[in-house]
Amino acid sequence: MTMPLTDQITMIAPAAPIDRARFGFRAKCLQRLIRMDLPVPDSFALPALIVQAIAAGQPVDLSPLDRLFSDGDGLVSVRPSALMPEWGGPGTVLNVGINDDTHARLAQRIGKGNADAIYLSFVQSYAINIARLDPDMFAQDGDNALRDALRCYADEMDEPFPQDPRRQLAEVLRSMARAWDGPTARLLRQAKGAPPDAPLGLVVQQMALAMGPGLCGSGTIQFVDSVTGQSRITGRFRGQSYGKAIGIGAETLYLTQDQRGSALQDIAPEVFADLIRFGVAARERLREEMQIEFVISDSTVSLIDAVRVQRSSRASVAIAVALARDGVIPPEEAVMRVEPRALSELLHHQVDPRAPRQVLARGINASPGAATGKIVFSAAAAQAASARGEACVLARRETVPEDIRGMHASVAVLTERGGTTSHAAVIARGMGLPCIVGATGIAIDGRNRKLTVNGHSLREGDEITIDGSSGEVLLGAAAMLEPALDENFNQLLTWADSYRRMGVRANADTPEDARTARKFQAQGIGLCRTEHMFFDAERLPAMREMIFANRPEDRKLALDRILPMQRRDFIDLFEIMAGLPVTIRLFDPPLHEFLPHDREGLRELAESMDLPLSDVTRRVDALSEFNPMLGMRGVRLGITVPEIYDMQARAIFEATIEASRSGDAVVPEIMIPLVSAMREVELVKNRIDAVAAAVRNERRVDFTYRLGVMVETPRAALRAGDIAAHSAFLSFGTNDLTQMTYGLSRDDAGRFMGPYVTQGVYAEDPFHILDTDGVGELLLIGAERARTQKPDITISVCGEHGGNPESITFCHEAGFDYISCSPFRVPVARLAAAQAQI
Ligand code: PEP
Ligand code: MG
Repeated sequence: MTMPLTDQITMIAPAAPIDRARFGFRAKCLQRLIRMDLPVPDSFALPALIVQAIAAGQPVDLSPLDRLFSDGDGLVSVRPSALMPEWGGPGTVLNVGINDDTHARLAQRIGKGNADAIYLSFVQSYAINIARLDPDMFAQDGDNALRDALRCYADEMDEPFPQDPRRQLAEVLRSMARAWDGPTARLLRQAKGAPPDAPLGLVVQQMALAMGPGLCGSGTIQFVDSVTGQSRITGRFRGQSYGKAIGIGAETLYLTQDQRGSALQDIAPEVFADLIRFGVAARERLREEMQIEFVISDSTVSLIDAVRVQRSSRASVAIAVALARDGVIPPEEAVMRVEPRALSELLHHQVDPRAPRQVLARGINASPGAATGKIVFSAAAAQAASARGEACVLARRETVPEDIRGMHASVAVLTERGGTTSHAAVIARGMGLPCIVGATGIAIDGRNRKLTVNGHSLREGDEITIDGSSGEVLLGAAAMLEPALDENFNQLLTWADSYRRMGVRANADTPEDARTARKFQAQGIGLCRTEHMFFDAERLPAMREMIFANRPEDRKLALDRILPMQRRDFIDLFEIMAGLPVTIRLFDPPLHEFLPHDREGLRELAESMDLPLSDVTRRVDALSEFNPMLGMRGVRLGITVPEIYDMQARAIFEATIEASRSGDAVVPEIMIPLVSAMREVELVKNRIDAVAAAVRNERRVDFTYRLGVMVETPRAALRAGDIAAHSAFLSFGTNDLTQMTYGLSRDDAGRFMGPYVTQGVYAEDPFHILDTDGVGELLLIGAERARTQKPDITISVCGEHGGNPESITFCHEAGFDYISCSPFRVPVARLAAAQAQI
């Protein structure tokens, strides 16, 4: 078939029309090395269209590649060249083109043993990967291995081993092109973000021989540590061998001086110096830390390939910062190079190495960080545990795509099988979830919900700790170390802050949350949920007394007992936040949440309140609602039982006076939840203004405050224009807004979210990633109507979506003033907001 000129097999040369979109990252990278005059063997690139034609069995003219067989030793390698390195691809095939004649010629030049090793490795690889013969039949080694392998091939295939290099190459290309379309390859690359129709290019390169007289061998070298990102030469070098072809006198050398054995640096300092020179040049010109694959043939270095150094999240930050500090890339590019989610991995807990640990088993440390949770054996159990607020560890023999929802609901993942690129490992790393795969000695019996290991038998609900950094499974809870935030982390975020327009605040309810928020440099508290403050043992009795009171005066008396404690809560928050804005949401949940529901609890309550059990039971029944999330909660409660908001407003104002006296002036922000009509805001505002006037009068101190509305109902979004008239700010509570827009219970959606997402009903779980089409449209409508009414109104998002990078981009583009997210997601949000701006 005829392809356009840009889609033809092309020799990689400085001026050749090679672009990444058609030919893949590897071809493009090799061209850059060639342009730098680095010693790269002759290479040809096959564009994706040609590879697709080959996979489809269409005739393709491969004659441009013929000259590779007539030059040099007549051997070539074939490598995949996908658009992105992380999308992988079929394994490289080396030494294509070897046959009896080439073997004889090679035997003369580099010795028979070496020539045998090269021929044998190719026959084995061809038989197994291309002819798809049983690998067990091709495990030959020893003196007659080559002869045995050739005979075995001929017996199985009823024809001699193919001698025509062009046929060998055509078969290798066809097999690699088809492998790309296989279900496993597809699944793996899709887990890394590749689209279903991701293209594959191929690179065919002349082989540089790594065996023969003089210093020969092959290896890789990189100049940074993949785990820490610090400057350090690492890699490997194997003399007289390349890939699976192990020649005569093969030996492994260290690259740099090492007490444990001899090093390339000592044995061949000039060769080593060449490698360093090439490495430095590649870093500067490719503007990236590269791992370089090289071959040494009689002391001459060839660069075979260069790929971006594999890196941990920590290293990705360190590398980006170092490249910018060295002037190789500008700081804004460093900011763009780090995945926001990678930062959350740096924030993970680690098991304290000084603490005692009872190791149950070891496996592959597939995703770093550590977490403790109760064992669950299915995704459904994980989702149920998460809905109950319990930390759980998902233990599976191996995971499949249907388990992803369960992984989301878990704090860590453990699998009996699998390696570093198994489904569980790939997905867990993507989610920043501690994960151990291939745990030796563990037997997981999902059906009977049992895990046996080294004489221990564990059941669902038993507690274990997964140390995804070391690969150890520990019995029970382990002492944890707080995550370390190093200088690179801070530098990257300082740069990010300098580009970012949108503010980032934290959702913080407790002094501890507020301290974490400060540590991560949140610009204030965007949501303080006050209800948790009423649950502690000291306050609950007063709260219940308030609920049982029949008259407003009695309610006030009960709330007066809570007032000093609530005031203390706010003083603490204001002091920790030191003048940064603090948005306090008034009481939101339905009252029945504060009452007991079982008989025993009701009896105790009757006793403590000195009331007949029947009175208590009647009162509890009267408060119960068919659908409490859509019932008397939020502002509806605020209007019906106004004494609660009065008390909270007073506590806020008195705390404002107190905290401003000793520190920075505080301007509290008070937020009304679950609003659906303007009149609700008016009523609450009138009462809060009255409380403010009373406090000013009593204390003879002036202060200001800002009153705002939480937009959590579709009606509030639609009526945002009216509502804005009485509000200094609007904050979208996208959790409830998503629930109400979809008519989808936040607490029950887990039951069917899995099938809904796998069958494409929803592209994503809308409680994780903002539904920009539906809920997002309400946000845009609300913001637009509010701004038309009041151009300087502050607009933000404080639902869970505030910590999700995709949703942050949406908020940035919508021109919101800030987002507020849980304290540990603040760094992610700072970076994502900067990336949205750049
Ligand atoms: C929301 O609904 O988005 C919100 C932030 O409030 P809560 O999660 O407390 O309901
Ligand atoms: Mg809400």
